[in-house]
Amino acid sequence: MSAMLPQIPVAKPFLDEEEAEATRRVILSGWVTQGPEVAAFEREFGEFVGAPHACAVSNCTTALHLALRAVGIGPGDEVITVSHSFIATANAIRYDGGIPVFVDIGSNGFNIDPDLIEAAVTPRTKAILCVHQLGMPCDLTRIVEIGHRLSIPVIEDAACASGSEILWDGVWQKVGRPHGDIACFSFHPRKVITTGDGGMLTTNNAEYDRKFRLWRQHGMDVADTVRHGSRQVIYESYPELGYNYRMTDMQAAVGRVQLKRLPTLVARRRYLANLYTESLGDISWLETPVEPAWARSNWQSYCVKLPPWLDQRATMQVLLDKGISTRRGIMNTHREAAYANPASHRISGKLTHSVTAQEGAIILPLFAQMTDDEVRFVADVLRDMCSDRRTATA
Ligand SMILES: *Cc1c(COP(=O)(O)O)cnc(C)c1O
Repeated sequence: MSAMLPQIPVAKPFLDEEEAEATRRVILSGWVTQGPEVAAFEREFGEFVGAPHACAVSNCTTALHLALRAVGIGPGDEVITVSHSFIATANAIRYDGGIPVFVDIGSNGFNIDPDLIEAAVTPRTKAILCVHQLGMPCDLTRIVEIGHRLSIPVIEDAACASGSEILWDGVWQKVGRPHGDIACFSFHPRKVITTGDGGMLTTNNAEYDRKFRLWRQHGMDVADTVRHGSRQVIYESYPELGYNYRMTDMQAAVGRVQLKRLPTLVARRRYLANLYTESLGDISWLETPVEPAWARSNWQSYCVKLPPWLDQRATMQVLLDKGISTRRGIMNTHREAAYANPASHRISGKLTHSVTAQEGAIILPLFAQMTDDEVRFVADVLRDMCSDRRTATA
């Protein structure tokens, strides 16, 4: 079977001896979960994005759950978001009985259209959960302005956006500073840096951070590091309902190495994304992604839009036959069976662009180890498809 694997995967984590060595060090230290490595990873990640508080958790879905709980989402509360996202975005809203309210993405790119947010607001709106889809920052300046004006907290689903930057008050800043109230990151292998699984919450709000730390560890009011380091007997208590959303120290140790690599990985991805845009530039029917003036993507994914006359599945098959793995456009949560019950969500306006993007876009391979020649090869296969078609329809 392995002989059948595509030569060019759609994504590939960058992991090396240094990560392997880091886990070895932790394993032999004897402290393997939510200990000194997690604390160090939190400190370093917070410094990297410029956030005063960073709290590590088991993944970004649990991060989103805690963020939504912190701003008080409960039964019947509405959270404005996009359907056009990985399903975890909306699922997290439903965990405590919240109702995702889906608005469309813009016609350019793959992020929420800020013009549609206010029409979706009702007296039950308790948060805006915006997504930096594919690593491309959404229009946060406008979204945060709306949030402030209407006193609605803004949570950023920054799952894909480690290392992405946003122009804020005329200064380039890292996504996660945070610019909304809370930002949530993922370290799944499909993202730019990975800990196997893992997540991080960043905030300026010390009270939120205190709650994250309480809830991620069963609602226990004493951290293990404190109890173990104490010279006096401490009895813990459990003032609130909590969860087990811990990150292990093996994961955190890998995360620290990955974080050191992040600037280099992003620089490489930016280079490859530019090379794609250049190499695909002469294909008139293909729409390549563009960074808005306020955004510097980490290029977690490079997603192109196909013309309506080109079949998505057939295009992906042609590429796969040449050993090139791709993915279709980002899913639409409202089209999944888990959302068949109309009470599970609300749709505000039409989701035309969301559906078009799912059905008419494809994600091309992009990973740090990819060579220039591989990028040009993908572009050549796409270009040939176009000339084939011109011949076929002539
Ligand atoms: C990957 C992803 C998530 C989920 O992250 P996990 O760490 O796998 O839980 C949530 N939202 C978006 C937009 C994602 O891409």
